Amino acid sequence: MVYFIGAGPGDPELITVKGRRLIGEADIIIYAGSLVNPRVLEGAKPEASIYNSASMTLPEVIEVMEKGAREGKAVARVHTGDPSLYGAVREQMAKLERLGIDYEVVPGVSSFLAAAAAVKREYTLPGVSQTVILTRMEGRTPMPEGEGILELAGHQATMVIFLSVDQIEKLCRQLQEGGYDADTPAAVVYKASWEEERIVRGTLADLAIKVNAAGIRKTALVMVGRFLGDSFELSRLYDENFSHGYRKAK
Ligand code: SAH
Repeated sequence: MVYFIGAGPGDPELITVKGRRLIGEADIIIYAGSLVNPRVLEGAKPEASIYNSASMTLPEVIEVMEKGAREGKAVARVHTGDPSLYGAVREQMAKLERLGIDYEVVPGVSSFLAAAAAVKREYTLPGVSQTVILTRMEGRTPMPEGEGILELAGHQATMVIFLSVDQIEKLCRQLQEGGYDADTPAAVVYKASWEEERIVRGTLADLAIKVNAAGIRKTALVMVGRFLGDSFELSRLYDENFSHGYRKAK
């Protein structure tokens, strides 16, 4: 059996109980060493074989999984955050399916959730935005038609941009060209939930300068939108004039 496990954003306490248990039971662990905090592997069995996938190709990863699974071993494939976001997991799942190897996915706390926690903000504020767009800029992976920053910015929703802090100037420019005002609040969270976590706050007009001054070039998320500001409406959920299934209006 192969388990794809979300390791969480960095803080070793932010893995799920299930993920931690499966790492503790695994005979073989393959982890994405470029981003996964090695401390999440501290509960591994001393005799477990541990591979860092940063230096491996897809066929090499699959070979390790296949050999382990055929020998009846438990294989933990550990990805950063949640595997479903920029995890390159689908290609691994497809190969395992072709090989007839069972697998299961254990979700994790994505870095975009740890980043909201770091800045102590709620992405979905009444009267501000009820939509979160998770995206990235084009890098070596091209963006599909219709998903450019310019187009997405037109929605004025809350946006969280992965894998793009190295292009922060271009990003802030395109967000403005796409429709956000220059004074829209924006922030960068570097290594959310790690000890080295840093937060840079600004607006679309000045964020790039601040981020460059801070020397942040990777492992960071860019957050954009008025949810970072301080004006919003109160929720209906806790409004005394509204009833819902669990509470009558006063
Ligand atoms: N599956 C991961 C994302 C992998 S893509 C998740 O759910 O978080 C890698 C990108 O994620 C990085 O370039 C960075 O943009 C972001 N990232 C991952 N961990 C991060 C962290 N602790 N703090 C800020 N950004 C992080």
